[in-house]
Amino acid sequence: MGKNGAILLGELAARATHLDIECSRCDRKGRYRLAKLVARLGEDFPMTDLGTELADCPRRSATAHHERCDVFYPKLAQIIADDQKSTPTKHTL
Ligand SMILES: [Zn+2]
Repeated sequence: MGKNGAILLGELAARATHLDIECSRCDRKGRYRLAKLVARLGEDFPMTDLGTELADCPRRSATAHHERCDVFYPKLAQIIADDQKSTPTKHTL
């Protein structure tokens, strides 16, 4: 985990080969090879910044937040969940 608890590109690349990306506000979707993304952006690139980097959405740079395109990763939760199954961790507040 990086600063802010963000999932890093390298962590994901260690668990999956591809990453699916979809936008909830337009029809953009795509599938990226994680090895390629790591080569381009580095292992320390946070997933939270990946959407704006990859998505070629028409409104991704809209100034009003509610108008901005909202990119998400449909399989991300599943990839992370699979990992937590094999290496259980306890979360305490
Ligand atoms: Zn979009």
